Amino acid sequence: MATKVWEIYKTRFCPQAGCDVYFEAEVVYPAEWLPETPPRVLAHRCSHGIICNDNEHVGCVWSGTNPLVDPFADRS
Ligand code: SF4
Repeated sequence: MATKVWEIYKTRFCPQAGCDVYFEAEVVYPAEWLPETPPRVLAHRCSHGIICNDNEHVGCVWSGTNPLVDPFADRS
C-alpha cells in the first residue's frame, strides 16, 4: 500500500513573517510491490501558512493564497 506523508525538507527565516519556518513536501511512497517506482511529490507548503493567511500579512505562494509573492524568490 502506498504511503502519503508530509516531510520537512528545509528551514528558512522568512522576512515577511519575521520568524523561522519549515518548508514541507507531501510525498507519496510507492507500495512495497513497486520497489523501482520513485517517490512522488504532490504538494509543497509552509509550516506558518495558516497563521499568515489568518492575520494581516499578505499571503504568499507558500501559503497557497498569493502566487505573485514569494519571499524567497531570487530578486537579482
Ligand atoms: S506562508 Fe509565506 S510569508 Fe508566511 S511564513 Fe511562510 S513563506 Fe513566509
